[in-house]
Amino acid sequence: MNGATARERLQVMLAELDRSIGVLRGDPVAVREHSAADAGSDLTDADRAQAMLTVATTQRTAVLAALKRLDEGSYGQCVDCAGAVPEGRLEARPEAARCVQCQGKTERRR
Ligand SMILES: [Zn+2]
Repeated sequence: MNGATARERLQVMLAELDRSIGVLRGDPVAVREHSAADAGSDLTDADRAQAMLTVATTQRTAVLAALKRLDEGSYGQCVDCAGAVPEGRLEARPEAARCVQCQGKTERRR
């Protein structure tokens, strides 16, 4: 995947995440645009929205970091071991910062 394709995909992801985050935070304009959004006020919906907001915010940070790596020319390089992140992994997750091995280590540390 070349840099231009990666940037395009990351920018699409960023726009979608911004919209989702707006909806989840209860931005009235975004909610109105999001016709399927159910303004449920029970705790379960609020909890689910909070969990989704956490995931979306985390992913947004990862997408922004990936765009920064594109600018710096280190995109596609593992942030931990500086090895190449496999092409197939970037296809599936353009925001991936680590190779499969380092990602595994990071997740086991949590
Ligand atoms: Zn690595």
